Amino acid sequence: MPDKLILIVEDNERSLKLERDVLGLHGYRTLEARTGEEGVDLAFANTPDLILMDIRLPGINGDEALRRLRADARTSGIPVIALTSSATSDDRERLRVAGFDGYLAKPMDLKEFPAEVAARCGAPVAEA
Ligand code: MN
Repeated sequence: MPDKLILIVEDNERSLKLERDVLGLHGYRTLEARTGEEGVDLAFANTPDLILMDIRLPGINGDEALRRLRADARTSGIPVIALTSSATSDDRERLRVAGFDGYLAKPMDLKEFPAEVAARCGAPVAEA
């Protein structure tokens, strides 16, 4: 059985490194994109188990990237979690209405982050 594959769409290098390192530590494989367009293309090509989507991105934003993912049969069923530093309840409601499956506040909580990932796509195979 293949390991879980997670696509990180994130333009901030420091956030991207943290997210990649934490996921790797927990046994997930990761793919990385630094723009929404690149993220959508990688998702179409690799159909990851979960997508972590920054909202503020160069080019199309996370909302538009989500719309494109939902509109394509290859990716319409993949859970997408929004990553954002906007943490008010209004923001969370907006993300829910936009169709995101979940929400993680930046900076990452190092316990909540892998727990939310595991809740959305299961624990990695390597971690029995
Ligand atoms: Mn960003």
